[in-house]
Amino acid sequence: MTLPITRRQILASSLLTASAIALAPHVRAADDQKKVGFCVVGIGSLAKNQIIPALANTQSAKLVALVSGHAATKAPPIVKDFHLKAESVYNYDNFDTIKDNPDIDVVYIVLPNSMHAEYTIRALKAGKHVLCEKPMATSVEDCQAMIDAAKAANKKLQIGYRLQHEPVNMKAIALLRSGELGKIKNIEAGAGFPIGDPTQWRLNRKLAGGGSMMDIGIYAQNACRYLSGEEPVEVSAMSYSTPNDPRFKEVEETLLFTLRFASGLLANCASSYGFGVNRFKVTCEKGMIEGDPFLSYKDLSLFARLPGKPGRQDITPKQVDQFGAEMDDLARAIIQGKESTTPGEEGLRDMKVITALYESAKTGRVVKLG
Ligand code: NDP
Repeated sequence: MTLPITRRQILASSLLTASAIALAPHVRAADDQKKVGFCVVGIGSLAKNQIIPALANTQSAKLVALVSGHAATKAPPIVKDFHLKAESVYNYDNFDTIKDNPDIDVVYIVLPNSMHAEYTIRALKAGKHVLCEKPMATSVEDCQAMIDAAKAANKKLQIGYRLQHEPVNMKAIALLRSGELGKIKNIEAGAGFPIGDPTQWRLNRKLAGGGSMMDIGIYAQNACRYLSGEEPVEVSAMSYSTPNDPRFKEVEETLLFTLRFASGLLANCASSYGFGVNRFKVTCEKGMIEGDPFLSYKDLSLFARLPGKPGRQDITPKQVDQFGAEMDDLARAIIQGKESTTPGEEGLRDMKVITALYESAKTGRVVKLG
């Protein structure tokens, strides 16, 4: 299944090219043996175009195995370019035998959302650490079961919040925490793109768990949490889907929502499959910062109005491969015996907020969070 071109445009993704995969051989560095071995599950758009090429840009991770329902057609070029062992290509039926492969340290779940919980728990039971794509799962109960399985297996569980590992968003967080701009008064955040093919799994409730909010709006909501450093205490939301549009028969097109934080801070946000938006703006007592765009795979920008300095300044830092940074964070956590920066608990918190937002949109009421 391929992503619609519109999503490719908004994320400015690098396409799968022979040159991207051909980057692979240079990862075979002298210290390759010390790297943490990753097994990628589901060779779809994100795995092919971002994650597998990013494994060429990591310090501490390497690709050692694949799981695919279409291994005969999808695996061969990757096996060749990454010098994988033929026996390190699995399918969904023999997935559990990864437990016998000592080369695999981490299983990276890049499947449709409703499959995340099952494959995460099976990988943990096979004695592997897990990196699971966002959204963590499609229910709070599944998120909790995944965290419990990681604890029972004594393995790490990281959620694929790439923006919390990349310099633009990290610089925004650092600037807000420094106090230089004073108290945060308001956050506006929007994440959306016009979705294409009505037959794709993202528009199938059973596989996606919801619509734009599960897939792209989660970035706006997660940004409000990491930018403020606070948890929302109550939320309200309104949803809209274009009548008779074949794309929105099962899931919502747009969700507009408000988050109230304990300090009194209010954030107003947009999530959409109907229009493009990719921006946050944090207004503070003594200034402002703006990420525009803040969630693309590359070429993000950060602007600020700083106290004592005239005008709006471009303070964008140097950027890195976000997926490489995310995988290195988990690899380092494993090597050094530390916690990942974005553990399962972070995914669970988002799922609690998203569940409350859907409840608010359905009932028309403000929903309180514990
Ligand atoms: P794709 O549809 O492109 O790929 C999903 C892959 O999962 C398929 O190619 C297939 O691989 C496998 N699969 C197994 N069962 C099914 C099924 N029933 N229907 C469809 N695919 C199936 O999706 P993406 O790669 O775009 O997304 C995968 C995950 O990554 C999602 O959870 C998504 O939210 C997340 N994501 C995260 C992004 C980020 O920036 N962090 C960006 C994009 C996506 P195979 O044929 O090999 O079995």
